[in-house]
Amino acid sequence: MSADARLREDMCLLAKSLFDRGLTGGSTGNISARTSDGGLLVSPTGTSFGRLDPARLSRFDADGRLIGGDKPTKEMPLHTAFYETRGATGAVVHLHSCHSVAWSLMPEADEDNFLPPLTPYAIMKLGKVKLLPFFLPGDPAMGEAVRGLAGKRSAVMLANHGPVVAGKDVEAACNAIEELEDTAKLAILMRGYDARMLSDTQVRALVTEFNVEWDD
Ligand code: ZN
Repeated sequence: MSADARLREDMCLLAKSLFDRGLTGGSTGNISARTSDGGLLVSPTGTSFGRLDPARLSRFDADGRLIGGDKPTKEMPLHTAFYETRGATGAVVHLHSCHSVAWSLMPEADEDNFLPPLTPYAIMKLGKVKLLPFFLPGDPAMGEAVRGLAGKRSAVMLANHGPVVAGKDVEAACNAIEELEDTAKLAILMRGYDARMLSDTQVRALVTEFNVEWDD
């Protein structure tokens, strides 16, 4: 199997896995990945993560021209903003995942550090997650907001909408966005309890030990 064909299969399999576990429903969510020739593969507009067709993924060349497949997601500016500002980005995934959205509506959600420090892996896989305001779906301003972070964040949460995470490859991006959703779920489960969160010292130790990108 060629590298391009394998990447297409991986994107569709991982998207289906997210869909099957209820992490994004209906025709929501979109995923993209860098190809070996510097182009991109992107999930088409209006498609369901449960039924992506490897042969119909939107294919862009290294100059950003659509050279094959169906019309891409309208949330394309979000994806390109990550590729353009973070050189090591190999994949970007966006979900409409329930608990992340719920946590984005809470008054205590911190704009600069969306997830409370509950477990180590969220910190290790995501760094600090930026909470961005609400935008109309497809508004290019979403991409501008990500560009405004100057490549310092691998994960953002779009308020009242859903998370967007960049990773070195498709699997890393999917693992990280699952961590984001799980942590938001924990935050909601713990809401109203006097939960013992990780201390600043523990967070700092994690950041140092695991060389986490932590935008101070
Ligand atoms: Zn969306």
